[in-house]
Amino acid sequence: MIQPDSYSSQTLLDTVRTAIAVASTTSGRDSSDVTLVAVSKTHEAQAIIPLIEAGQRVFGENRIQDAEAKWPTLKAQWPDLLLHFIGRLQSNKARQAVELFDAIHSVDRLSLIAPLAEAIKGGGRTIELFVQVNVGDEAQKGGCAIGDLPELLSAAREAGLTIAGLMCLPPAGVEPAPYFALLAEHARRHGLARLSMGMSDDYPTAIMLGATHIRVGTALFGGRN
Ligand SMILES: *Cc1c(COP(=O)(O)O)cnc(C)c1O
Repeated sequence: MIQPDSYSSQTLLDTVRTAIAVASTTSGRDSSDVTLVAVSKTHEAQAIIPLIEAGQRVFGENRIQDAEAKWPTLKAQWPDLLLHFIGRLQSNKARQAVELFDAIHSVDRLSLIAPLAEAIKGGGRTIELFVQVNVGDEAQKGGCAIGDLPELLSAAREAGLTIAGLMCLPPAGVEPAPYFALLAEHARRHGLARLSMGMSDDYPTAIMLGATHIRVGTALFGGRN
């Protein structure tokens, strides 16, 4: 695969930023309320650096081990980088996740609460947490069932964890808007301000339905290896 050079990284970033601005303006929102998480999973540092040089600072990864292989070096060079974890989190990786990442979008089950709470207390850093909701009720997907959300949120609260918002990955191949609206409704009911929803194919729709965090890979990096 041809890796993006700095010119095309800048062009792709500008294109996505313009689309964010248009969707925000159209829906009466301020585009500064939308965080672009550049999903760099599977891409090597040499493909990521041009995007950092183009001004992008927030990145998303879905595997702890891959992230540990590339990000410590990049963070040393650009200390203002922020890393978001968007993959399935194993309980025994909670400590590593909390050491490297600034946000976790995939809190999705009761058994993660205690290890996460312990890791965050021990780590002494603030981590922004999202509960991932399985909005399409798909067996193969992570995310807590909608019916389990109240119990998961209260368990997090009891453990001293602050949940910032909800995250979803709607079913593939169908119109995502109803799922975005559903996630937004549940966030409203629970008084949660943040919504992580929208990817390369549908982030403008997600923004119009209230996304505060969009997770965009392909539109910034091209196809994955
Ligand atoms: C890979 C991934 C994305 C990015 O998907 P694109 O379609 O490449 O933008 C977003 N969210 C999650 C959870 C992912 O795993």
